[in-house]
Amino acid sequence: LTILGIESSCDDTAAAVVRACAGRGDVLSSVVIGQEALHADFGGVVPEIAARAHAERLDGAVEQALVQAGLRLADMDAIAVTAGPGLIGGVVSGVMMAKGLSAGSGKPLVGVNHLAGHALTPRMTDGIAYPYLMLLVSGGHCQFLAVLGPGEFRRLGGTIDDAPGEAFDKTAKLLGLGYPGGPLVEQEAQDGDAARFNFPRPLLDRPNCDMSFSGLKTALRRARDHIIAEKGGLSVGDRADLCASFQHAVAQTLAKKTARAIAAFRDVAHSDAPVLAVAGGVAANQCVGAALRDVAMAEGFEFLAPPLKYCTDNAAMIAWAGLEQFQAGHVDDFTLAARPRWPLDRTAAPMLGSGK
Ligand code: ATP
Ligand code: FE
Repeated sequence: LTILGIESSCDDTAAAVVRACAGRGDVLSSVVIGQEALHADFGGVVPEIAARAHAERLDGAVEQALVQAGLRLADMDAIAVTAGPGLIGGVVSGVMMAKGLSAGSGKPLVGVNHLAGHALTPRMTDGIAYPYLMLLVSGGHCQFLAVLGPGEFRRLGGTIDDAPGEAFDKTAKLLGLGYPGGPLVEQEAQDGDAARFNFPRPLLDRPNCDMSFSGLKTALRRARDHIIAEKGGLSVGDRADLCASFQHAVAQTLAKKTARAIAAFRDVAHSDAPVLAVAGGVAANQCVGAALRDVAMAEGFEFLAPPLKYCTDNAAMIAWAGLEQFQAGHVDDFTLAARPRWPLDRTAAPMLGSGK
């Protein structure tokens, strides 16, 4: 099976061709056109600007993906597209594009949940078996999922407000570092003292897997303002210590809750070779990754972080998730709708916060 994937739910316009090969996915091409430069001045993604950029770039991305794979649309078995959750303008552009290609070529259309794309990535890259535990930790999401099958997910917990990536971006903004903030904060933190500021780790006393990160940025702002009021400004050392302390608080919160999620996973699934897999840009953070790896090892879980290019937003993961759904017999018709919200776990209660 060979599938074309299309992704445009946030600030990356992406298209990819993936072929099933010995239980995993062979990525024949993966084109990602980022929009960082368009949004940099605003310190975050501006939905209207993102939607316009997707509309302008999607056809080029698809063409490039096919050319790089050395294939034509006629060679595809199906067309997979992110149908949500995400910024609705971008999702609509992608879904329209996919419907047009499907109508023109007669190829089946498969609507994919963006989060399912992230959650199934370790199957594409490493061919791991169901069930496994996934921590999705990105700019817009933070949740633990028991991945039981291509369309079967149990949400074990997650953030009740901000996602960690968002917190990294806001921290960078507060400290004047630029956007996107994650890598810049990590760099600043390198020489910092993580013990200087004791930032809050909310909800750690609760026995569930829920987390909260919005208090962290408030605490960071207070600490910053306090230093500025006392000394008139931030020194290089102050900035490094703030970043290191912040990063440590995020890593520790994620690690502690991962231990809880592992226990919750054991309650809903059994695996003889249990795996904790991560996806999302924040998984690139060395401090976070090391903390998660330690917890996984202590609990007898293998820790798996797919290559970063497949952890952040991309269309290969959408093609792969579409491929698994297609194999399971799932095809959409032209009533496929773009959904700004689309929880993966249909059994879960309505969520607080961003609701994604
Ligand atoms: P979505 O939530 O829909 O996946 P997204 O585009 O925000 O959207 P990703 O592309 O997975 O998510 O990740 C981007 C986020 O990851 C940004 O918030 C960025 O700051 C953060 N990030 C990237 N690298 C690092 C790093 N080294 N340390 C911490 N955070 C990082
Ligand atoms: Fe994403």
